[in-house]
Amino acid sequence: MAQIIQGETGEWEVVIGMEIHAQVIANSKLFSGSSANFGAAPNAQVSMVDAAMPGMLPVLNKKCVEQAIRTGLGLNAQVNKHSVFARKNYFYPDLPQGYQISQYEHPIIGEGKIEIDLLDGTTKYIGITRLHLEQDAGKSIHDQHPSKSYVDLNRSGCALMEIVSEPDIRGADEAAAYINKIRMILRYLETCDGNMDEGSMRADVNVSVRKAGNEYGTRAEVKNVNSVKAVVQAIEHEARRQVDLIESGKTIVQETRLWDPDKMETRSMRSKEEAHDYRYFPDPDLLPLDIEQEWIDEIKATLPELPDEKKHRFIEEFGLSPYDASVLIAERPRAAFYETAAKGHDPKMAANWVINELLGILNKHGKTIIDSPVSAKQLGELIGLIADDTISGKIAKDVFVEMYKSGKDAAVIVEEKGLRQVTDTGAIEALVDEVIAENPDNVAAYKGGKDKLFGFFVGQVMKKSQGKANPEAVNKLLKEKLG
Ligand code: ADP
Ligand code: MG
Repeated sequence: MAQIIQGETGEWEVVIGMEIHAQVIANSKLFSGSSANFGAAPNAQVSMVDAAMPGMLPVLNKKCVEQAIRTGLGLNAQVNKHSVFARKNYFYPDLPQGYQISQYEHPIIGEGKIEIDLLDGTTKYIGITRLHLEQDAGKSIHDQHPSKSYVDLNRSGCALMEIVSEPDIRGADEAAAYINKIRMILRYLETCDGNMDEGSMRADVNVSVRKAGNEYGTRAEVKNVNSVKAVVQAIEHEARRQVDLIESGKTIVQETRLWDPDKMETRSMRSKEEAHDYRYFPDPDLLPLDIEQEWIDEIKATLPELPDEKKHRFIEEFGLSPYDASVLIAERPRAAFYETAAKGHDPKMAANWVINELLGILNKHGKTIIDSPVSAKQLGELIGLIADDTISGKIAKDVFVEMYKSGKDAAVIVEEKGLRQVTDTGAIEALVDEVIAENPDNVAAYKGGKDKLFGFFVGQVMKKSQGKANPEAVNKLLKEKLG
């Protein structure tokens, strides 16, 4: 659903293209053997190469290349067998080389596409323009000393994948769906952890506006937006700013802007450099990267089932609704949990239990499914007890809460607490008779046409049985006795 901005001169369409920087999961950096792990003391992970000591030579990390190929395959994209590392020249205090090694004309991954789910239940393809490998920069720290800045080079030289989309995204909701989908795919592939709050995934958002049917307008690039919420807000504000500007007779300048979440506005950072300002040229310290088909095939053979395939399979194999399927596949461990819990049981019932009960209580306690005190097998067993009428669905909810607290198996709790469902019709009949005898007025009213009282009788019988009477048997007997 394309987002429309209502202006004074009519409706405007919002056009967006994204550049996502994703930090590659690898033990060491793109061109050095230093650790690429997060959280070490400042400058504890800086080799001579990362510090750009004269004469140091970069050596390409095979693992990072493999991760880029994996990602390309997961994005349904072309893997380029020949690619070239290029120097992108610019000065930055946290970039000691004075240039960033990146890829320019010949990226490792070419065109691809991914499917995103829209709020109205439909789907749409977003084109991927390219993915290239590049070095991350270090971090300047300005808040530790009144007159000095410090630099931490731990991140300097870590591998990033820059994933560039086509300008196919039409509004803030689609942008959120896109970034969520990219993150989900990278996490499935285990090529990036997708943690935006730790900076391992960040987005540059290119925004322009146009009247429907017109050519694309001039874009502004909002840099380093680091949460999905911020992406949505930045787009809303930037698109509105552009419409107001154009409608007041001014023109949009192509520039880089920053999103300020406190002031809720985008702000000009610098006018956009033309690409040639960077003086890209092939890095003379590195050979072109030539990849063999055999290796690509090997990597392809190790790809997991990806989110879209999994979703379609869950819908077909288990008869789930598209909504339930998409909740269950949102994280790989969650999908695996579901499949184990559903094994040998009613899959729709299992989906309800995972989504409503388990995710509900985990959310409440700020946990994810990996820390669930109830295992998938245990949840499956609980579902089995409902299916074979050992307990009612209602009692099962109490059993579940107890399982969550104690870690005990459902069957153990049912026995310990005597929660077994009463299906013996003789016993239930006795309770029904008692309830009828105790409530002559209500019986008369019911027989006089107050049908709604039926629920009252069911409630009374259930209460007498402490919730253990089989509800179907109760209904049947009451119907018979009340005529
Ligand atoms: P640069 O190298 O300056 O960042 P690119 O050509 O690589 O420029 O494009 C960067 C991003 O801008 C891409 O994601 C692309 O889809 C997006 N983009 C290009 N034109 C527009 C436009 N008119 N409106 C919105 N996004 C755009
Ligand atoms: Mg760019």
